[in-house]
Amino acid sequence: MDTTKTLLETQAQEIRAELARLNELLRERGDYGYGTGDPAVYQWEFNLALRERYEQRLAQIERAMARLEKGQYGVCEECGARIEPERLEAVPYTTLCITCARKLV
Ligand SMILES: [Zn+2]
Repeated sequence: MDTTKTLLETQAQEIRAELARLNELLRERGDYGYGTGDPAVYQWEFNLALRERYEQRLAQIERAMARLEKGQYGVCEECGARIEPERLEAVPYTTLCITCARKLV
């Protein structure tokens, strides 16, 4: 289980670094006076959406780490079933089994 923890921590660190970089980029909001077709504006919006995705991912990783602490890692949050090992390997931070994850989509 130690390797899972390391894996999750590494991923969390990578995302935090990426978030810091995005926050830096987003601080330079640019001038919206150029109009909506401006590539700089498009890039800013893109970074904003990206940051949101990373924040969600980070929250998910933190949830998975908390579950690891409680010895509940690999158990589905929704139905309590064991999450498929292949799924955990592909998505180590998941807290849902494939059936429940599909229901959410
Ligand atoms: Zn489930």
